[in-house]
Amino acid sequence: MSFVVAIDGPAGTGKGTITKLISKELGLINIDTGATYRCVALYAIRNNIKLEETEKIINSLKNIEIDMENEKGEQKIFLNQEEVSKQIRSKEVTKIVSQISSIKEVRYKMVEVQRKLAEGKDVIMEGRDITTVVFPNANVKIYMDAEEQERAKRRYKEMQEKGIQMTYEEVLKNIQIRDKNDKEKEVGALKIAKDAIYLDTTGLSIEEVKDKILNIIKEKEKRLG
Ligand code: C5P
Repeated sequence: MSFVVAIDGPAGTGKGTITKLISKELGLINIDTGATYRCVALYAIRNNIKLEETEKIINSLKNIEIDMENEKGEQKIFLNQEEVSKQIRSKEVTKIVSQISSIKEVRYKMVEVQRKLAEGKDVIMEGRDITTVVFPNANVKIYMDAEEQERAKRRYKEMQEKGIQMTYEEVLKNIQIRDKNDKEKEVGALKIAKDAIYLDTTGLSIEEVKDKILNIIKEKEKRLG
């Protein structure tokens, strides 16, 4: 039986950073589900498929193969055998990924891909619908949140560190649009699962959030024996 820690929440709550740290500390395989949608977005851009061309996007799914490798807690993402870990974080991909992920058929396929990546492993997965759709029976379910301005500040800092040119206003706007879109999706909308633990990270350091989540996981492990 595998052990699954599922974390959902809006953009910029620190899910990605925390997941990486906890995966290292507890030796869980880290599966970044947003990366799978980013691969579809990258594929569409590279093949000149426009967002409005929904049919073409759906048809392209059969040509898309996604793999992940974990090396010392660091994750490498492969699109059709090519490593695209960096390319999927570009401004262009970030701009369209939420809309790409709103297409039902894309979601069905990516959920399948994500479950396959996790098969038989002890994993920590973060995204928008992990606690509700991908693994509704996960051992640990957490919803991470933070105030919008703080999330935008964190994302802006991250973009700067990665050398991606975006103004704070652009980052904030992108977060607002993505949040709205993610919460209103027909399938797999971002919502708080009834049995998820709600964690507001506003004003907390990464270390503090990490400790809180490690405690939640340890408590759960104790109860499971
Ligand atoms: O987490 P990240 O910012 O990389 O996710 C990119 C986009 O993919 C999100 O804005 C969201 O629209 C979508 N996503 C999703 N379901 C997930 C993970 C991400 O719809 N489980």
